[in-house]
Amino acid sequence: MFNSLRTSITGTAVLAIFIVSTCVLYFSILAYKSLYADSAIKHLDALSENLASDLIPNLVDESDLFAVSSQLLRLEQYTEIKFAGVYDKEYQLLQPYFGDANKASSAGSDEPSFSLERAQQLLNFPFGTGKLGDNVYAIKQIGDKRLPLGYLIVVSDLSGPLKQSQNQLLLSIFPFALIISILVIVVLLIIQNSLLEPLLALRRFAQEVKASGDYSQSARISGKSEVSDLTVSINELMGTISDELKKNRRQTKLLEQQQMQMEHLANFDALTGLPNRQFIIETIKIELKKAKRENRNPSLLFFDLDGFKAVNDTFGHDIGDKLLIAVANDVKHYIREGDTLSRLGGDEFLVLLHGDPEPVIVSAIAQRIIAGLDKTFDIEQWKVSISASIGIAYASDANYQPLDWVSCADLAMYRSKSEGKSQFTHFNADMVSANLKRINVANAIVPALKNNEFQLHYQKKVDVNQQVMGFEALIRWQSEELGAISPAEFVPIAEQSGKIQAITQWVVQQACRDLPQLLRNYGQDIRVAINLSAIDLKDSKLSDDISRMFRIYRINPKNIEFEITESAYLTHFDTANSFFKQMRELGCKIALDDFGTGYSSLGYLTQIKIDTLKIDKKFVDEVGIYKRSSVITKTIIEMAKQLGLTLCAEGVETQQQADFLRDNGCHYMQGYLFGKPERLASLGAASKADKLEGTITDQ
Ligand code: C2E
Ligand code: CA
Ligand code: CA
Repeated sequence: MFNSLRTSITGTAVLAIFIVSTCVLYFSILAYKSLYADSAIKHLDALSENLASDLIPNLVDESDLFAVSSQLLRLEQYTEIKFAGVYDKEYQLLQPYFGDANKASSAGSDEPSFSLERAQQLLNFPFGTGKLGDNVYAIKQIGDKRLPLGYLIVVSDLSGPLKQSQNQLLLSIFPFALIISILVIVVLLIIQNSLLEPLLALRRFAQEVKASGDYSQSARISGKSEVSDLTVSINELMGTISDELKKNRRQTKLLEQQQMQMEHLANFDALTGLPNRQFIIETIKIELKKAKRENRNPSLLFFDLDGFKAVNDTFGHDIGDKLLIAVANDVKHYIREGDTLSRLGGDEFLVLLHGDPEPVIVSAIAQRIIAGLDKTFDIEQWKVSISASIGIAYASDANYQPLDWVSCADLAMYRSKSEGKSQFTHFNADMVSANLKRINVANAIVPALKNNEFQLHYQKKVDVNQQVMGFEALIRWQSEELGAISPAEFVPIAEQSGKIQAITQWVVQQACRDLPQLLRNYGQDIRVAINLSAIDLKDSKLSDDISRMFRIYRINPKNIEFEITESAYLTHFDTANSFFKQMRELGCKIALDDFGTGYSSLGYLTQIKIDTLKIDKKFVDEVGIYKRSSVITKTIIEMAKQLGLTLCAEGVETQQQADFLRDNGCHYMQGYLFGKPERLASLGAASKADKLEGTITDQ
């Protein structure tokens, strides 16, 4: 009830008014009582004085009791008189008088409230007037003081009339008191309101601010200094809150923007703007759940750009990035509306074909992408060509498992790559076993090195006179667990699984071990070629390891040649250049393997440090058959000569090919026509036969 300041103040004020007025009333009544008693005594004094003088004649000689009684009856008009008694000079009662007041106060009993006995006692009191209990009395001497005729006692009721008069007084002042109290309260309320109003205004202001949330407004300053100080403080507080709110809003907006950016970064590829791996995997999860419920079989296209790495290496990453953007923009037009194109990373893309697409439609889309990308992109001043290899998998292929689905499409894409690129392949379960085989092969390499399962075979390289001038070391693996595995199969797997370095170390060491015997059999000038892989070039320790091995096995580096494919060389152009520079400084030779299969640009040949070009078997196979290949081979030979490079043709199988190559100036040849790769032991024997018979080892 007293929660509000206003009611507390009002309540307190009313209580105070009540207490004060009650006290005033109480003390007024006390004063009134004493005044009333004084006046009653005076009145009784005058009355009894008069009566005493009037009684003198009645008591002079003989007491005239009748007259006395008549005199006393005059008192009847004074209703407050309780008792009057006239006594003779011997204090004997002559005549009593009992007034109505005496009876009234003893209502209910016959006994008068003021008895004769009490009156008798009064005779012992001194003359005069006084107060006795609820009564006032007067004791008067009748006649002269020295010759008294008798005595008069008059007792008057004080409490009855007092009460009556008091009640009358109260009745008459009550309305005034009430009106005054009401007036006081009203005035008080008005004052209180005018004092409280600024506070209440502040409260309304606070409620308004709360409702509107607008902290930029300020309260009007009014009221006494405490309240106006409070208002100023509140306005300052509001200002601070408003500033903080503004700061907060700016901060929140910034955070929201950052969050959006982060979400975008998390879900979209920064380069192409396509959904990224995370986004597409989430989309695939949702699509697979829906498709399973709806008994649909959506499909997934995994595509990878063929030759993208070469573009990056040849033209730089900037051009590579622009190519990716162009590819992304193009492919958007080859897919259906509603299908999702995303970039998994690098040059790998995924297309999710929603719904329940027919295999013919899926194939048509894949074909459209392949055909669409099979063109020359104009990027800055360059003309860039690539192609796409695609793998297709249906949700059912992966049993509706998201990551398995991507893997299936990836495996199918891998098959497209290994079968010649720029094509699409539908997933089949055999790919899983092929992949498993790859995994098994990768896992078997290190144990195989420990178990000496690898061997080096050597294939002759001959000059135009068919004199053996060197060998190419080619690795062979007879796995205890997996059987014979071709290097064409396990070398790429070793490269992908990071195990090629171990193999290369082994090959170099084995070649160093075998070299003395080859030198003994074929002369001190022959050269043994060791194949290096692209991954080897990343190994900064390789040149140190090779030098160490040369020292240990006392190898003359002039007897060693390294073969590296042109794509491997160019992929690691700088590291390859510095590695081969060191090897050449030692005295080793460098050959560019499989020349003509990779890069169409020949300009780089002037920038790399090599000694020999190995013309790829692909050209050799076709010389004499296709004019075009013959022309290319001639051109390669011509150009290499101009650059001062030695030429070696590989895969020579027929005499016709050998004749063509020799006639066009190719320096060396290698192929089944001159000898298959053979174990060192059989080579030793063959050399003797070569020398004895001077014949060529044929297939
Ligand atoms: P490559 O370096 O181009 O080796 C030549 C391949 O052609 C060898 O296959 C060889 O046996 C084969 N060959 C040679 N003459 C003829 C011929 O007249 N007709 C036919 N049909 N084939 C011929 P191989 O030994 O199976 O090696 C395949 C590839 O494996 C090699 O190609 C090379 O890239 C890689 N490789 C082999 N040994 C090693 C090695 O020790 N280290 C590395 N890094 N790679 C190796
Ligand atoms: Ca080779
Ligand atoms: Ca080759």
